[in-house]
Amino acid sequence: MSVVLFTLGGTIAMAGSAEGGVVARLTGAELVAAVPGLADLGHTVDVRDTRAVPSANLTYRQILDLVDAASSAVTGGATGVVVTQGTDTLEETAYLADLVWPHPEPLVFTGAMRNPTLAGPDGPANLLAAARVAAAPAARDLGVLVAFHDEVHAARFVRKAHSTSTAAFVSPNAGPLGHVVEGEVRMLTRPPRLDPLAGVDRDRLDAVRVALHTVTLDDDLLIDLFRNRDGLVVAGFGVGHVPSELAPVLGELAERVPVVLTSRTGAGSVLRQTYGAVGSEIDLQRRGLVNGGLLDPYKAKVLLRLLLAAGADRAAIAAAFARHG
Ligand code: ASP
Repeated sequence: MSVVLFTLGGTIAMAGSAEGGVVARLTGAELVAAVPGLADLGHTVDVRDTRAVPSANLTYRQILDLVDAASSAVTGGATGVVVTQGTDTLEETAYLADLVWPHPEPLVFTGAMRNPTLAGPDGPANLLAAARVAAAPAARDLGVLVAFHDEVHAARFVRKAHSTSTAAFVSPNAGPLGHVVEGEVRMLTRPPRLDPLAGVDRDRLDAVRVALHTVTLDDDLLIDLFRNRDGLVVAGFGVGHVPSELAPVLGELAERVPVVLTSRTGAGSVLRQTYGAVGSEIDLQRRGLVNGGLLDPYKAKVLLRLLLAAGADRAAIAAAFARHG
């Protein structure tokens, strides 16, 4: 029985460089060697060094390629898969993978907040927890998971909510699905899985571009900024509001490309039918904006781009957000 480890770089794999600072350059074998207890997992850890980059440099296509490689690993008999990468984009990459992961086997993302040159690096503990989750029968059928700080989060709920804390990953709308306690994976809740998205065309994906605009006090919005975009996610105030002057601008844009309404607050849903002022959720939906529900702006952007790459029309996009949001 084996757990396959794909490494993509990030702080967990960083070491000092001659130019100053730390850079991603440790191999999977070096990461594994730094983890006391991994040998007792009862599974071999089969390392596939894939990239050594800061996670800001990862692309959608690379993550889809990773999902393909992870799929081959589990169809070839692996019990589960671990991915190590930088934490900065992990909430997006894990969600992207979750949207297309079709297997019952766990695909578990992790990383580190303290690099290995610091006192108390968290990478080894996170890698051990992730390997335990990947090997755990209790973690099957839950889609893509994030193991961090001995907590297990669903990729679709997790956020990076702190820039330096080792407890940076939280799921504000759902809480962690489970915990790793004395080495045992204990799942508390099992949210139902959604069917994986089909038909994502990689060439179209490269061409499709989605913008994200966070609305701020006394904001203005130049529609020209988004003219050559294929879709827009708006991170509105509170339950999904924008200044009234922005409403017609967004409405005009929504006539041409899908515009998804989300909340910039970091938790909770945008509403559908409470506020009636111009620029409120009822008005914006009448102007054609799609309700993003509980999805935060970053995850909404991932979903919208994949849907566009799958050739989804306006009705299919609205239906997908109703399901996933
Ligand atoms: N900048 C790093 C990255 O995302 C941060 C990290 O790994 O935690 O690659």
